[in-house]
Amino acid sequence: MTEITETVRPFTAASYNQYLAEGKLMASRCTDCGTLHLPPRAICPKCHSENLEWTETSGVGKLAGFTVVSIAPTFMIEQGYGRGNPYVSGIVELEEGVKISARITGVDATKPQEIKVGTPLTVDFITVGEGEKAKTYLAFKAV
Ligand SMILES: [Zn+2]
Repeated sequence: MTEITETVRPFTAASYNQYLAEGKLMASRCTDCGTLHLPPRAICPKCHSENLEWTETSGVGKLAGFTVVSIAPTFMIEQGYGRGNPYVSGIVELEEGVKISARITGVDATKPQEIKVGTPLTVDFITVGEGEKAKTYLAFKAV
């Protein structure tokens, strides 16, 4: 991955992913209307302003909804997930009020009836692969 060295990184998926790799869940905040965007956006969808700034989120939230995934996409099958080993994907509502989808860890994917909406969560980062091939995924862990 190319290192982005500018003082202010562009509001792109690449910048967002680089922050994830650094262990930061970053959002963009509109400096005109104050709206927080996660994942970050380069243009505010509310007031169409291009005046944005990076803001690190608290990483604290709660489970707003979830699904247990047994038919996994290829990159998850490569990590050992699938029919015999499902995982949980969820929507997390951060205490800042924004929502984002993420892997949910610290819950038993084989017992979805025991997973509760509203469960407190904290941000977690899952890095798969090494060196140039390393990729960091956003996750939230039940606390
Ligand atoms: Zn705005």
